[in-house]
Amino acid sequence: DPIISFEKVNKWYGNDFHVLRDIDLSVAQGERIVICGPSGSGKSTLIRCVNALEEYQEGRLVVDGIELGDDVKAIDQVRRKVGMVFQQFNLFPHLTVMENLTLSPMWVGKLPKKQAEEKAMQQLERVRIAEQAAKYPLQLSGGQQQRVAIARALCLTPRIMLFDEPTSALDPEMIKEVLDVMIELAEQGMTMLCVTHEMGFAKAVADSVIFMDQGQIVERNKPHDFFNNP
Ligand code: ADP
Ligand code: ADP
Repeated sequence: DPIISFEKVNKWYGNDFHVLRDIDLSVAQGERIVICGPSGSGKSTLIRCVNALEEYQEGRLVVDGIELGDDVKAIDQVRRKVGMVFQQFNLFPHLTVMENLTLSPMWVGKLPKKQAEEKAMQQLERVRIAEQAAKYPLQLSGGQQQRVAIARALCLTPRIMLFDEPTSALDPEMIKEVLDVMIELAEQGMTMLCVTHEMGFAKAVADSVIFMDQGQIVERNKPHDFFNNP
C-alpha cells in the first residue's frame, strides 16, 4: 500500500479560487518526490495537505493508513507522523536550540526533561549541530538554523518528511550543508516530499519529479526523463 494516497483531491480558497484540481498522487514508503512548477501553482498547498495544515473540500487523502477528513483526532495523529520544514525555519528566537526541540511536547513527546534532552541531542547530532545546542537561533547562520529545524522535525520520529523550499531563504554558500542533510535522510530511506528549485538535489535523490501548473499535476517522471524533456 502507498504511504500517501491522494484521490481526486480538490481544494478551493473561498468560492472560486480552485487551488488543487483533481490531485491523484500515490507515494510509496521510502519514495523521494520533488515537486516543482511556477509560483502559485499549488505546490505548497499540496504538501501542506499531507500534515493537515490545509483542508480540502473534495476527494480522499490517506496518510500512513489514516484518512484525513474533518476528524480532529486523525489530524492530530497524522501531525505526529509527518515532520515539516519550512522556508523560514520557524524557530522561536527567545528559546535556545535545545529548548526549541524540547519545550513543547509536540516534538519530543511527553518525556522527563533529561530523556527529552537526550532524544533532542541525538537528532541535533544527526544534522551535525549538537555543539550549538545552548545557542539562540539568531546566533547561528541560516544553514545552521535550518538544520535545527530539520532536527526538530526529526524528533517526531516521522514516517514522512515534507520540505517546503527549505533552501530558498539561504545564502548560496549555506545551501549545500542543508541539502547534504536532506540527501542523508533520503539515503536512510525516509519518505520525502520536497518542494524545491534545487535540481541537483532532484537529480541526486528523487525517485520522481512532479511538475505542477495551475493546481494540477501535469507531469510525473523519473528525474532522468524529466531533465531530458524540456
Ligand atoms: P506555490 O507553492 O506553488 O507557490 P501555493 O500553494 O503557495 O503555491 O499557492 C497556490 C495559490 O493559492 C496561489 O495563487 C496563492 O496566492 C493562493 N493562496 C495560498 N494561500 C491562500 C489563502 N490562504 N487564501 C487565498 N489564496 C491563497
Ligand atoms: P495550528 O494548526 O492552530 O496552527 P498547530 O499546533 O497544529 O496549530 O501547529 C502550529 C504550527 O506548528 C503550524 O502552523 C506549523 O507551522 C507547525 N507544525 C504543525 N505540525 C507540524 C509538523 N508535523 N511538522 C512541522 N511543523 C508543524
